Amino acid sequence: MTWRDEAACLNYEPEWWFAYHTLSQGRGTRHTDESRLAISICEQCPVKEECLAFAMENKQQTINGIWGGTTSGERNTIRKHRSTA
Ligand code: SF4
Repeated sequence: MTWRDEAACLNYEPEWWFAYHTLSQGRGTRHTDESRLAISICEQCPVKEECLAFAMENKQQTINGIWGGTTSGERNTIRKHRSTA
């Protein structure tokens, strides 16, 4: 059994985790009702920390989508902060 077996998103539509739009030129993210719902599910997920850690360590596999409640842009921001800390 792995952390993925306990994922809160298992019984929802996977597309919701990819339903946001990254705006050009660093103008942030435009969320949809589905992506907001996905984030709210992540917030209550028992393996949120593990999911985010996986995404942070496996950038190529997780380049898109919401992982651990974060968008790809938010993960990039976390990486930048970590690299300058
Ligand atoms: S944090 Fe979100 S994307 Fe990650 S396993 Fe949990 S519900 Fe799924």
